[in-house]
Amino acid sequence: MEVNVDLCSPENARKKQRQPENWKVTKQKLQRYSPKAMPNYPTCGHRGKCLNCSLLTMVDIKEFHAAFYTVRTKMSQDAFILKYCSVSTPVRYRPRSGDRGKKTIKYKYFVKNQVGNRIEVCRRAFLGILGITKHRVEGVFTRFKKEGSDIPVETRGGFRKDCNDRVFGGIEREINKKEKIVKVEEYHESFSGHGTVKKLGKL
Ligand SMILES: [Zn+2]
Repeated sequence: MEVNVDLCSPENARKKQRQPENWKVTKQKLQRYSPKAMPNYPTCGHRGKCLNCSLLTMVDIKEFHAAFYTVRTKMSQDAFILKYCSVSTPVRYRPRSGDRGKKTIKYKYFVKNQVGNRIEVCRRAFLGILGITKHRVEGVFTRFKKEGSDIPVETRGGFRKDCNDRVFGGIEREINKKEKIVKVEEYHESFSGHGTVKKLGKL
């Protein structure tokens, strides 16, 4: 008997294909990084040497808000925050009383306008435009600082002769170089070159 095998669409296939875009967790993530409301137009009226919130137009604000939510992933938005916020090196405030004071970290917030200029705004304006909390900004910078200052550490698994166990790695390499080992003394030689053998079992 002849059986014709037809190609069927993925939905009808016995072996289901992964469709991560339909997963609940994917939808939740998308929801988490989606805009919750329209951007707030700053009402602070800042206009001065540093802060110029009132220079922003309604279009500037809408476009900046839209740019933030173009890619609704944490990574992309974190990068956006890093791009438009800056943090000054902590200046220790030292009062005269001899008190050591505490470190104050100063954040600066910028909004790009239509012309492409970075306008410095106050925190309230920045957070209101993007609809995020100050904790989000602080979190990004804390993580960034932590990861940025660390020396990259090899965390991938596996036994590494060179860094995990230099003594036994060295011995192993030396023994591997030999074609044949006939005498116990040869082993002993290799071992003593890398460490001290305190107790040797009966051979
Ligand atoms: Zn302001």
